[in-house]
Amino acid sequence: MTAVATSQETRPTTSSPMPNPYAWLQKSLETIHQADWYRSVKTIHGLSGATVVLDGQKVINFASNDYLGLAGDKRLIEAATAATQEFGTGSTGSRLLSGHRELHRELEQAIASLKQTDDALVFSSGYLANLGAIAALVGKRDLILSDQYNHSSLKNGAVLSGATTIEYSHCDVTQLRTHLIEQRNNYRRCLILTDTVFSMDGDLCPLPQLLDLADEFSCMLLVDEAHATGVMGENGAGCVEYFGCTGRELIQVGTLSKALGSLGGYVAGSATLIDFLRNRAPSWIYTTGLSPADTAAALASVNIVQQEPQRRTQLWSNVDYLKKLLHQQLSNLKLLPSESPILCFQLASATAALQAGEKLKASGIFAPAIRPPTVPTSRIRISLMATHQTTHIEKLLAVLRNL
Ligand SMILES: *Cc1c(COP(=O)(O)O)cnc(C)c1O
Repeated sequence: MTAVATSQETRPTTSSPMPNPYAWLQKSLETIHQADWYRSVKTIHGLSGATVVLDGQKVINFASNDYLGLAGDKRLIEAATAATQEFGTGSTGSRLLSGHRELHRELEQAIASLKQTDDALVFSSGYLANLGAIAALVGKRDLILSDQYNHSSLKNGAVLSGATTIEYSHCDVTQLRTHLIEQRNNYRRCLILTDTVFSMDGDLCPLPQLLDLADEFSCMLLVDEAHATGVMGENGAGCVEYFGCTGRELIQVGTLSKALGSLGGYVAGSATLIDFLRNRAPSWIYTTGLSPADTAAALASVNIVQQEPQRRTQLWSNVDYLKKLLHQQLSNLKLLPSESPILCFQLASATAALQAGEKLKASGIFAPAIRPPTVPTSRIRISLMATHQTTHIEKLLAVLRNL
């Protein structure tokens, strides 16, 4: 009681009160609104698929990363349900304490087999896989060279590691080489970071040249195969397979949440690398193991990726069909270079991109505007799925023509 009374007596009452330390939040939001950078969630109803119900309206879904259409697949749903029945909903602890199950090991072996690596380690998300691997591999005395368009999880992994980070211009191996010549000898270890399929552009990293540079300058190379796993390469192993680099020593990170239709992330590589990460990756050691449902669903989809190449064939034939139609009928559209199922066309401003996104949605097409700070220039991002019908693609084209 006395303490309260004293503090009231000494609190300044008339002259300047202390400013509200949270007031800046509202101001900051207003600035975001003014730039047309404001984002909010949109509610999707029903099963994931090539068409979904968005805010009560049926739309064709060109906004999902579910490239093979597996997120709504019966076999994944059944695997997740069975695992939940058998093991419960939560993993209840970190993998090193009480959260490790046979299912996790089976999934890791399946990923290693898909990737043709010694071993793999499953994280609770792709974001955590990048944070954990990068923070474990380099520190204050080390150098990171990072593509300027890399995913947020690679950039924040670099920050977390405490290493000196230099960004090189997008896919510019000449500039990367110059940095290596000038800087490599000033540091202990060096780690090159890159997306393989760039998620908001759709183009590919120059993987063979990056591997050669890594060899030449004694650097580790970590590639993020988030949008490539299940999609690129004859067996769906990713860009490493696509570029014929299977078996070369590097660090492959990916997600279980895109083409694999579940949730979680992984690192694949040498047995030594994986053993080291189990002992040193903070975002693996100090977080709860992936749930039985997510683990079982991912295991089912890794098997489907290998057993049903026709899904990939269908996806790529959809990509070819859309590209052909765009080339024939909409050559004025500013398409960004793409070698993946991600196709983006550029717009003059965030406002123009938002308006285009709204117009598409009103016409039954779900393809979001991607704006700064996610990307340097505003765009509409279209991602294709194996389960899109030709009529879906034709409808997209008809709507784009009237944009
Ligand atoms: C989506 C994505 C991630 C993160 O994966 P999550 O499993 O969703 O956390 C990491 N890297 C890239 C390039 C991505 O696109």
